[in-house]
Amino acid sequence: MSTIADNIFHVGSRIQTATQAAHRPENSVKLLAVSKTKPAEALREAYAAGLRDFGENYLQEALGKQLELADLPLIWHFIGPIQSNKTRAIAEHFEWVHSVDRLKIAQRLSEQRPADLPPLNICIQVNVSGEASKSGCTPEDLPALAQAISQLPRIRLRGLMAIPEPTEDRAAQDAAFAAVQQLQASLNLPLDTLSMGMSHDLESAIAQGATWVRIGTALFGARGSQPMQP
Ligand SMILES: *Cc1c(COP(=O)(O)O)cnc(C)c1O
Repeated sequence: MSTIADNIFHVGSRIQTATQAAHRPENSVKLLAVSKTKPAEALREAYAAGLRDFGENYLQEALGKQLELADLPLIWHFIGPIQSNKTRAIAEHFEWVHSVDRLKIAQRLSEQRPADLPPLNICIQVNVSGEASKSGCTPEDLPALAQAISQLPRIRLRGLMAIPEPTEDRAAQDAAFAAVQQLQASLNLPLDTLSMGMSHDLESAIAQGATWVRIGTALFGARGSQPMQP
């Protein structure tokens, strides 16, 4: 049975191979460990093996783990759907939010970001799979949304996030991620982040310019089963 450290090594090799194949600079792709449903001990193990950035989808679950792991210098990313009544806690307890898809949420995050913290790093989630996904703004709405969010004082708009419809077909993966990259380029804003690629499609995402890959299963094992342990 593999340990989390083994899995991190393996995912790191996949990222390195894909980065080289795309002729991109070493270390231009960062690994976000998606730890939803996994216990704090699994994150502690990942930290011991070198990971610092953790992505969580559910606020209450994330806040519980943040308390349990308060002794570690972890960087927390919120990556799940956001309801308005959760924005204050998200603005207070995370450094990144990858899943902003409407202006009202961004405005609240900006207003509620504590003055003693740096601006909150934001990615706009864009839906490039049409009907297949409910989350994310449409490509048509993206330019105006990005313009408006880029003006907010306590927010730093970093780029786009996408979760294309899952497929094992590499050409279809490439087409979806390339669309995200082109949308980003068309915005004419100083953006440096593309959050895209998960356990099954990170190679394609890296080939199309991903700077964060968000990896859960390949690090921690399948959700709903026991995390992989030594
Ligand atoms: C769960 C999740 C991931 C990780 O997916 P895996 O297939 O387990 O790697 C990445 N991004 C988001 C937004 C998620 O909800």
